[in-house]
Amino acid sequence: MPERVIVIGSGPAGWSAAIYAARANLKPLLFEGTVQEDMIPLGQLAYTTEVENFAGFPAGDVRSFVESAVDKDRHWNLPPIPKGHERDGRPHYAVQGVELMELMKQQAINFGTRVVGDDIVDVDLTDRPFRVIPRDAEPVETHTIIVATGARANYLGLESEEAFKNRGVSACAVCDGALPRFRDRPLAVIGGGDSAVEEATYLTAFASKVYLVHRRDELRASKIMQDRAIKNEKIEILWNRVLDEVLGNDDDGVTAMRVKSTEDDSTSEFDVSGVFLAIGHTPNTGFLKDKLEMNEKGYVIWKKAFRTYTSVEGVFAAGDVADDYYRQAITSAGTGCMAALDAERYLVDQGL
Ligand code: NAP
Repeated sequence: MPERVIVIGSGPAGWSAAIYAARANLKPLLFEGTVQEDMIPLGQLAYTTEVENFAGFPAGDVRSFVESAVDKDRHWNLPPIPKGHERDGRPHYAVQGVELMELMKQQAINFGTRVVGDDIVDVDLTDRPFRVIPRDAEPVETHTIIVATGARANYLGLESEEAFKNRGVSACAVCDGALPRFRDRPLAVIGGGDSAVEEATYLTAFASKVYLVHRRDELRASKIMQDRAIKNEKIEILWNRVLDEVLGNDDDGVTAMRVKSTEDDSTSEFDVSGVFLAIGHTPNTGFLKDKLEMNEKGYVIWKKAFRTYTSVEGVFAAGDVADDYYRQAITSAGTGCMAALDAERYLVDQGL
């Protein structure tokens, strides 16, 4: 018997799709990926530390927060204060990226999702039922597929960049920018597109100064975003420069960066406590090449506004794999839910 729904991906889109599909009694089978392929098990949140902007997961003195937010007769439900979690002498806790994903995973499993720790390396969408081909396990037939393989942030590939990931190097200012290690310190953003300018502007709320390092002498970002950056006194643009090395030590993490001129190869160092890469993302769609319609950057195209339909009926896409614009955990979770509802309606329409 073919599966009714196969979900490929294990970030917020994949788990949310699985939760909804499981609650619709579709018994979804979810492939969560392994680190051997591009797709990251538990998605990009696996690389994030504190998550403060996922609705329903407030950060800080969580107990006081809940006391202020819900009626007294529900205070029995208060979370315990985890030991050792304090900031400025007050209890402080924020859900960790991995923790949030593990909670979603368990929630999906509790409703009957079956999880396979394998990568999907190919799909056959020419016949029905479709066939998905895992790297290690046997091919599986399915009536519908929800693609939720996400995208990965691009890095430059420097050894020092890798060494300081989560200790000052990040590819998501919105996720990590408000962390204490970045407060009132000079920071750097690498890139010249809308993301880079937006992240630099965002970081000025916390940083003492933000260097925007761009490899050319003009920004790619839209005019309005450029103006915003240029007018912002806290942002200094280092034109015609690329990141050459992230500098730091085991105790403090990132302490400085060395940049290289694209004109004469000269180098210079700047004290910074954080380096944020904003040089684009790559969607994890290699295994879908020539199978589904994608845009020029390789993102799966939604064929109808506000629907998760792809170019092949019965195949749906959710999360960052189909979104190079919002790219937030909560938007991914939302589209995961949409994809499950779309798949459920498709199965009903087809009498499957
Ligand atoms: P992007 O537009 O592709 O820009 C990537 C930037 O990184 C470019 O400036 C590029 O330099 C630079 N870059 C790429 N590889 C590099 C390397 N190896 N070394 C140094 N620099 C490198 O990506 P994005 O900024 O993430 O934007 C993606 C899409 O989302 C765009 O369509 C954008 O408009 C949209 N977006 C919109 C908003 C908004 O409207 N609020 C916010 C964020 C994103 P070059 O310029 O020299 O190529």
